[in-house]
Amino acid sequence: MPSSSKTNRRILLASRPNGAPTAENFRTEDATIPALSKGQVLLRVLYLSLDPYMRGRMSAARSYARPVEVGDLMEGGTVAEVVLSRHQDFEPGDVVLSHSGWQSYAVSDGGDLRKLDPSQAPVTTALGVLGMPGFTAYSGLLTIGQPKPGETVVVAAASGAVGSVVGQIAKIKGARVVGIAGGPDKCAFVRDELGFDAVVDHHAQDFEAQLAAVCPDGIDVYFENVGGKVWDAVFPLVNEFARIPVCGLIAQYNHAGDSFPGPDRLPPLMRAILSKSLLVRGFIQREFVDQRPAFYHDVAEWIASGRLRYREDFVDGLDNAPNAFIGLLEGRNFGKLIVRVAGT
Ligand code: NDP
Repeated sequence: MPSSSKTNRRILLASRPNGAPTAENFRTEDATIPALSKGQVLLRVLYLSLDPYMRGRMSAARSYARPVEVGDLMEGGTVAEVVLSRHQDFEPGDVVLSHSGWQSYAVSDGGDLRKLDPSQAPVTTALGVLGMPGFTAYSGLLTIGQPKPGETVVVAAASGAVGSVVGQIAKIKGARVVGIAGGPDKCAFVRDELGFDAVVDHHAQDFEAQLAAVCPDGIDVYFENVGGKVWDAVFPLVNEFARIPVCGLIAQYNHAGDSFPGPDRLPPLMRAILSKSLLVRGFIQREFVDQRPAFYHDVAEWIASGRLRYREDFVDGLDNAPNAFIGLLEGRNFGKLIVRVAGT
């Protein structure tokens, strides 16, 4: 139970970013911990997930989800411990997946909580490989990408939470897998630890030529996480009937509206969609919610049998969340980015 001297540390959106977010876009406050009503639980946040979608919530632009208002709590998925309960289904000590946002304590009516079993898997995996990012990879790749044995699958942000799972599932399905990652350490991890067939560093001067060299038969599935110059390198290589699940465009998130630099990509894209019979399909993972039981089953089994590996990148302390999030949009994270909130 929190002592009366404890306060709830919260990180709020102070202003909307113009381009890349800065520390000034965030504000920290210490609030009192609210009293519980009947049917509620008090949660102590253990871990906060930092995800690229949060950049969209900081912007007022129309999107698939409502923005965070200026002055409001930053939104985010969390793993938390129940410390007080006036809810019949939860007791102190339960560990739950919640959506408590960037704060150290939260009150919930239980509707948004899922109990986690720490003996089954490390609880942080509920934010990564066995959580939303892993599910994004599983559902987007298998439903839209549909990789077949012998085909070439390319995935960008390949060392990250989504890309690492995409590539490994494509390998399990018998495809030849090429990753794109930023820097030698991430590339070595993708090739040597995750077992991709080839990897290319998008910071390399001759990145486009290197990508073409490792895709001699072209590209059958491109799982798009990045956009921008990575897309420019992939696009000429896609084969007839290629499938392109459009999952994310992280290189573009700090560029408002239509201001992204470079040539107009639309006419060549439309021509290729027509002449190569491409399938280009955007998705938000929650549309595939009915696949969640199959996802938990398959991915848990692949992890247990050693066929699927994951990497988590921990940052200590809620106060360091803004800087870590800014780094996520610059490629400073290495693996699923998670903030240790409690006890730091
Ligand atoms: P990651 O763990 O992969 O971290 C982001 C990575 O993106 C960075 O480490 C960096 O990797 C790469 N990156 C960042 N900025 C740039 C840039 N300007 N140019 C090129 N690469 C960049 O994040 P996630 O796995 O959580 O997310 C991956 C993608 O999936 C994102 O686009 C995200 O928005 C999307 N997504 C979509 C969902 C959906 O439902 N559609 C759900 C969840 C995620 P590197 O250094 O290797 O370049």
